[in-house]
Amino acid sequence: MSITFDRIAIIGLGLIGSSLARAIRKAGIAKSIVAIDGDEAVRTRVAELGLADQVTGEPAGVAGADLVILCVPVRANAAVAAAIAPHLAPGAIVSDVGSVKGSVVRDVAPFIPEGVHFVPAHPVAGTEHSGPDAGFAELFVNRWSILTPPPDAASDAVARVRAFWEAIGSNVEVMTPEHHDLVLAITSHVPHLIAYNIVGTAADMEKVTQGEVIKFSAGGFRDFTRIAASDPTMWRDVFLTNKEAVLEMLGRFSEDLLALQRMIRWGDGDALHALFTRTRAIRRGIIASGQETAAPNFGRQPDPLPKPEGGN
Ligand code: NAP
Repeated sequence: MSITFDRIAIIGLGLIGSSLARAIRKAGIAKSIVAIDGDEAVRTRVAELGLADQVTGEPAGVAGADLVILCVPVRANAAVAAAIAPHLAPGAIVSDVGSVKGSVVRDVAPFIPEGVHFVPAHPVAGTEHSGPDAGFAELFVNRWSILTPPPDAASDAVARVRAFWEAIGSNVEVMTPEHHDLVLAITSHVPHLIAYNIVGTAADMEKVTQGEVIKFSAGGFRDFTRIAASDPTMWRDVFLTNKEAVLEMLGRFSEDLLALQRMIRWGDGDALHALFTRTRAIRRGIIASGQETAAPNFGRQPDPLPKPEGGN
């Protein structure tokens, strides 16, 4: 299904919002884009980057938009929905990109006026960077976008949101908000918590050890630091709004960690080897599905070798 919108309003021009603006432009699927952000510095930058046809701080900017996408931290959605509600055009579709879906549905749905469609979405794509400069048009290419429409959503509106994500390169899957939150708890939220925790533990060590942590970080630690550098506001909101699913997965994780602790204490090499063999297969599956690169060193460019003293 080829798709075009008259006017797409993006609210919150951070990493995801600005990537969407760029991707929409690149795909040519909107006659005009309006960027709405409460932060004057962000608006100035969005205008400088030429990411939208109109840039405003006013919720009324959504007037006349046939697609409105909320790209703000999860817990900010309710206030944003309340502010834009009186200005939404009849027949418009409201969507979002929040990393938690149950709470977004609960917070936003009550503000959606009669005759306006609500089709929540979550692109499973991102980086540890924030703000309008961090975005890029290809962020969603070959990544999954999960739609969690309410059971009574108009099928035409769901089809348009699906076509929207496909037009900017995503694969699309539909599921319930509850299932989404459970799946993402284990694939995204708990891994972030583990990264925050291990980097926090290292940061709490004495100074001399910290220097060594940084010096020898290529042993594995630095890959956690990339995740642990993710936006604090966004991730605070994720853990506060997906509490049940995260606690459920953390419980399982803690049990498995205890089992590992036992294997090490008892010198159970066979059990350790069997687990590491199973986990290696998961990584191979992720590479085979195109969700990661098989390049050595996680696809990083090797650092150029330093020139020898006095060399040329
Ligand atoms: P971001 O780069 O920090 O951008 C967030 C935007 O929301 C900024 O423009 C920010 O404006 C605005 N904002 C913050 N608090 C607000 C409030 N209370 N009311 C209105 N606007 C507010 O974050 P992001 O990574 O794009 O994340 C945006 C959404 O995408 C979140 O819901 C997140 O869960 C979801 N998501 C993120 C990723 C990822 O990897 N980053 C992936 C998938 C989905 P200011 O400049 O004023 O703060």
